[in-house]
Amino acid sequence: MNSAVIRRTLLFLLVVLTFSRTSAQADEPFADPHVRLLPPCGSTLLDDALEHSETIRSLVDRLTSTDLVVYVRCTAFRTSELSGSLRFMGSVAGVRYTIADVRLQTQWRNQAAMLAHELMHAVEVAEASWVHSAADMEAFYRENGTMTSDRPPSFETIAAREVGRRVYRELYGPMPTKAAETRHDGGTSDDN
Ligand SMILES: [Zn+2]
Repeated sequence: MNSAVIRRTLLFLLVVLTFSRTSAQADEPFADPHVRLLPPCGSTLLDDALEHSETIRSLVDRLTSTDLVVYVRCTAFRTSELSGSLRFMGSVAGVRYTIADVRLQTQWRNQAAMLAHELMHAVEVAEASWVHSAADMEAFYRENGTMTSDRPPSFETIAAREVGRRVYRELYGPMPTKAAETRHDGGTSDDN
């Protein structure tokens, strides 16, 4: 997906989100879920993950107490090395919006493990309350992550990798494999 397509998609989503946020403000400010799946993610992916993974339940609970919202897209990445990413979209009316891409797969358990990995990154960003832009997020990961690529800048954290592995074990049993490993592309600036 080239940067122009990503930029148009994110701008569209931000407009939609801005409208949604404005409409919801008169009610409970954080009544909406903080993790929101977009098509073509399976409609039951999050429900199944919540039912079978205590770790994912904990991640969603942690996000619910923050000002961060994660939109999740299931994406057919062109490269086999990339399994997920988290990008910062913007801040609107006191809510910070991010978008997580996870590799589109037929096996929901693999996808749930990757979702958990990205939700861990979302928790990391949520707890860094000073992060309000893609540049802030990149600065955060330069300080707190390990750079995995410099074009575009991509980062990884031990915590996210461990969460992915843990959820894989929760869903499949004690058979650690590389399936829950992801090369993470986070904090990149090509959507600016
Ligand atoms: Zn990662």
